Amino acid sequence: MSTIVLEGVSKRFGDYLATGDIDLVIPSGQFTVFVGPSGCGKTTLLRLIAGLEDMDEGRLLIDGTDMARTPPSGRGLAMVFQSYALYPHMTVRGNLGFALKIARQPAGEIASQVESVARMLNLDALLDRKPAELSGGQRQRVAIGRALVRQPKAFLFDEPLSNLDAALRGQMRFEIRRLQQELGITAIYVTHDQAEAMTMADQIVVFRNGRIEQKGTPLEIYRRPANKFVAGFIGSPQMNFLNGMYADHYHATTIGIRPEHLKLDPDGSLKGAVRTVEHLGNEALLHVQLQDGSMLTARCSEDVAVPADGDIAFATDRSSVYRFDPDGRTLPE
Ligand code: ATP
Repeated sequence: MSTIVLEGVSKRFGDYLATGDIDLVIPSGQFTVFVGPSGCGKTTLLRLIAGLEDMDEGRLLIDGTDMARTPPSGRGLAMVFQSYALYPHMTVRGNLGFALKIARQPAGEIASQVESVARMLNLDALLDRKPAELSGGQRQRVAIGRALVRQPKAFLFDEPLSNLDAALRGQMRFEIRRLQQELGITAIYVTHDQAEAMTMADQIVVFRNGRIEQKGTPLEIYRRPANKFVAGFIGSPQMNFLNGMYADHYHATTIGIRPEHLKLDPDGSLKGAVRTVEHLGNEALLHVQLQDGSMLTARCSEDVAVPADGDIAFATDRSSVYRFDPDGRTLPE
């Protein structure tokens, strides 16, 4: 598997900068997730790496060789799309072996490669079915298998699970990650789902407006967000941002506290009234209006006792309070 390096990569559509000044290392054998809100440029960057778009500036090094001007077929990368892009008239066997057939591999070689990949992906029993006879998750596995038989230098995934229901998505996340780790695959995975990024990535790259806001391991990004945007984007429910009296108390323009870091405490300094309680079964989310009118979400145990009058107070460790300057940058603790 291969290391991919981006140096000063930019792409414009007309006057619009879709992605700019990207410097990034995609380490060999690791799972890198591009995450960010819709329109932030993550798919464009993936397509630049794949060669489906031409970059205006910059270099793309794959194992040290600049491939920015190499056509997609010469880059040795495999892309797995959300739509799966399977051939509907071909069986699973035909789909899996297609790339090898095009490459004029001998029939025996194709058959043995297809069988080994089918075994790896639990598709052995489905080899004679057509895509229409498969579930969403099975189709997704065929799409991955089709890429695997080509033994690419790296896998590029473009929101591959967004067509699946929540339960299957969770299962496929786990399967893709397991396969990637077992085979030591270099992977880049695009998603707008921060939970997917947190659970799958070795390295998360957070994008906004075509630029990288932060990169790091999931825990680094959760614990030490570089700015208010990243702090709000990573973590669910979202970090609470407070201005006014509470921020003054901490000598900053805005403070941030994650819902899971608020502790019920009658002597706590964050006082307010519970407006709604969301019961999730394993936990409850309290939506609280603070004395200055701002709203706060707190993550509590399911059996949380809300007083009849709704009055409640929270405390939080100083180490769990983030402070942001007027430009949204995180201030040191
Ligand atoms: P999503 O999660 O919605 O797919 P994204 O982060 O992947 O979003 P991109 O698809 O990379 O975003 O698009 C980045 C920006 O570039 C968007 O504002 C989009 O409208 C614009 N863009 C993308 N492709 C083109 C194109 N071919 N021509 C013009 N503008 C484009």
